[in-house]
Amino acid sequence: MTSNTGHPVESWYADTADIPAFPTVEGDIETDVAIIGGGYTGLGAALELSRQGIDCTVLEGGRIGSGASGRNGGQVHTGQRLDPETLEGMFGEDMARQFWDMAMDARAHLDALNIDCDFKPGLVHAWHKPRFEADDRAYADFVQKRYGYDKLAFLTQAETATELGTDVYHGGIFDGGGGHLHPLKLALGMARAAQSHGTKLYENSRVLRYDGTNLTLSNGRRIKAKRLLICGNGYMEGLSEQIDARVMPINNFILVTAPLPDHTILRSNFAASDSRFVVNYWRRTPDNRLLFGGGENYTPWFPKDIKALVRRNMLKIYPQLVDLQITHGWGGTLAITMTRAPFVRQLAPDVFVSAGYSGQGVVLAPYFGKLLARAITGDSRDLDLLSRLPTPAFFGGRMLRWPALVAGLSYYALRDRL
Ligand SMILES: Cc1cc2nc3c(=O)[nH]c(=O)nc-3n(C[C@H](O)[C@H](O)[C@H](O)COP(=O)(O)OP(=O)(O)OC[C@H]3O[C@@H](n4cnc5c(N)ncnc54)[C@H](O)[C@@H]3O)c2cc1C
Repeated sequence: MTSNTGHPVESWYADTADIPAFPTVEGDIETDVAIIGGGYTGLGAALELSRQGIDCTVLEGGRIGSGASGRNGGQVHTGQRLDPETLEGMFGEDMARQFWDMAMDARAHLDALNIDCDFKPGLVHAWHKPRFEADDRAYADFVQKRYGYDKLAFLTQAETATELGTDVYHGGIFDGGGGHLHPLKLALGMARAAQSHGTKLYENSRVLRYDGTNLTLSNGRRIKAKRLLICGNGYMEGLSEQIDARVMPINNFILVTAPLPDHTILRSNFAASDSRFVVNYWRRTPDNRLLFGGGENYTPWFPKDIKALVRRNMLKIYPQLVDLQITHGWGGTLAITMTRAPFVRQLAPDVFVSAGYSGQGVVLAPYFGKLLARAITGDSRDLDLLSRLPTPAFFGGRMLRWPALVAGLSYYALRDRL
């Protein structure tokens, strides 16, 4: 069984990382900055604050790095979630460029963290329908001409087939700025770095509620802070009505196979994803297994047989793997917003939130945590910029948003199959 708290059983990541134990809060605590959530966002904030000598405390309800940050596909994407042309239409050329620069800074920040997490460069985005080529060509043209981004290249149908080891795609775009990594090693490396600078990290210490910057944990302990950063992403339902109305958890699923017989699948060891609305994404692990993500659901529960669900999607791309054993299967919860733009806000004078990165948190979340830290230490430029992204409440409000969302997302998932 795979669970939604703590490191999931059957996770290849948990099997291949050295997972340290952190203490649980056992007394009341006073701290300058309380951070809810020990994933990339919370750890990115903690790292920046503690580097500046600021007293901060991370409160993690499960284990450190056991949320989406320790469960995800490890795909490194470049750019913001909203494409630059859309941002230019919304905010004009200058501001769109600021968003682009921010995304490039986020990508550089990932490298600068300098954490040993098996990073491999290169990502292929493959078109499951010919019509997706035009979108990618327009994107490449735009970012090349406007921002000088020159790491994109196009693959013909034949080149895509050779690269990926499947002939189901019509071609694709290669991003040399993308890549893949071991996400749990990244999260734990960030945690160790933050701890070495003085951050206090607690796990199995769930925050039940907060009132201003005073927190109550599920074990009754109290935290008194001067500032509060809320970094619970898809795992914090019930903490804040304001956040719940705008940030929606959804589940996504991954499997890992036994070692592949050869290197014909992903022969250059790039990451791959496709143009489906419910995206398939895959990569090779250092021990030559296929790590394949595909399939999601929009309920508070995981399906009973995750391996079978994801395997169905994998076999549509790699029917030759029909006899290969599936050794691992697990799920995780990420967060989306109505517009797919992240929800980054100052909620009250001393309370801040950053969440809702969709499937792009590997690059953005660590950096957005850093931006929250910067905002409370006097530089709120990036927070102000991100706050301009519209993230309206989901239709139906907090109680009815699930049915509305399921209807909406299921429609697009159905279109994938047409
Ligand atoms: C299956 C899957 C595949 C994905 N694939 C990719 C990918 O390939 N590339 C990519 O860029 N992104 C991917 N993502 C998204 C990415 O993982 C997330 O955007 C990112 O990890 C978010 O980081 P975070 O720190 O904000 O959230 P999380 O890592 O989820 O951390 C939030 C933490 O807050 C804790 N928490 C919540 N509420 C409380 C509370 N009340 N008290 C104490 N603690 C609390 C949770 O336990 C959790 O550990 C994927 C996500 C999933 C689930």
